[in-house]
Amino acid sequence: MSKNIELYEESKRYAPGGVHTSIRNVNPMKVFTKGEGAYIYDAEGKKYIDYQAAFGPIILGHSHPYVNRKVIEAIERTDLYGVGCTDLEVELSRKICQHVPSAEQVLFCNSGSEATYHAIRLTRAITGRAKLIKFQGCYHGWHDYVARNMLSAWDMIGKRDPGSAGMMDEAIDNTLICTYNDLDDVERTFKENPGQIASLIVEPIPHNIGCIMPQPGFLEGLRELCTKYGALLIFDEVITGFRHSIGGFQKVAGVTPDLTTMGKAMANGYPIAAVAGKREYMQRFNTYPGGDVWFAGTYNGHAVGTAASIATLELMENEPVHEHIFRLGEKMRSGIRTIHERLGIKAYVAGFGSVWTTYFMETEPKHYAELQQNDAELYVAYRRKLIDKGIFKMPMNIKRNHISYSHTDADIENTLDIIESVLKELIV
Ligand code: PLP
Repeated sequence: MSKNIELYEESKRYAPGGVHTSIRNVNPMKVFTKGEGAYIYDAEGKKYIDYQAAFGPIILGHSHPYVNRKVIEAIERTDLYGVGCTDLEVELSRKICQHVPSAEQVLFCNSGSEATYHAIRLTRAITGRAKLIKFQGCYHGWHDYVARNMLSAWDMIGKRDPGSAGMMDEAIDNTLICTYNDLDDVERTFKENPGQIASLIVEPIPHNIGCIMPQPGFLEGLRELCTKYGALLIFDEVITGFRHSIGGFQKVAGVTPDLTTMGKAMANGYPIAAVAGKREYMQRFNTYPGGDVWFAGTYNGHAVGTAASIATLELMENEPVHEHIFRLGEKMRSGIRTIHERLGIKAYVAGFGSVWTTYFMETEPKHYAELQQNDAELYVAYRRKLIDKGIFKMPMNIKRNHISYSHTDADIENTLDIIESVLKELIV
């Protein structure tokens, strides 16, 4: 029995399914034992160029020496107190408020799901309204407010599609589903629910379904509609934040939401997340004297996450992190397009900055329903073969790849060669 399988079998004895997050259970199953820079290694020592990036956090590279050193320095001095605040929290919140346009104030928590939960509840308190708009295909975490109509079966698009058993009916039904890139649909939903919608949450680029770009005017339109109908606009920048610029995609797009949620690339893989926004809104949280919206968490602001995030942002401030990952992202996308042309493959290579994906369909998808045209079977077979040849990204349909600051030109060239050989085997 291979070492991967042996450990996986043991893991299954102690954890249901052997994995600690739902979608980690994939075929071929891997047990990872080491990550360094752009590479990860499984239990048998096989090396992969990693584009999974842990679903996005790894922006500088695995086990980044500068980040790790700063974390070690921090935890040799400090950890967690549960009262007062820490010097690390002050430094990190200053940086976030400096860089992220919508962040007049910020609060730390431990995961993106916590951040979206807090942001949405805050909008209900502010507006006195119950309903929320989210988009089909977007993911904002596992809690009842948002866990519906994510990767819906094609016949469930836009219908009542809770993502989990055990969800509260009231929560499911107060979350209304719209079509991304369709402002008419959003305005119709506002009109059909007059005075009832507290907020609209959106991944500014829905990376949970690969890389669907906002069409010109879409994010601006959401801003206008929220203002017009008295709802708050939440940008869920858990993936886009810090990855697409140190100020998030809102900085790139020039659209400022009322609230922003962040996580993932914020600390290069260490656990920390944040909710930020206008001061007048943030002061409704009960961390502020008189605030009436509960905000708490034993581990909020822990030294590990705050030190890692400060170090990650320092590197972004001082080194050409984004320039590098954007250049390599473009090199990858244009390289794949050239291969497709050479082999006569009809596919759409989508992406932004350091993120890319291949849709096996001819035209640019504008929203989730259009992804039915993607050849899912081919996509999964393609990813499986890439894994066999040492290129790692989970073999799940319509997910995205990420490039880190540790990837080199040689990694991209090597990956392109392997992509070409796999496509030849599969298609030609
Ligand atoms: N929001 C977005 C856009 C995400 O992609 C995710 C996770 O993938 C979340 C929120 C939830 O974050 P977490 O898994 O840290 O709870």
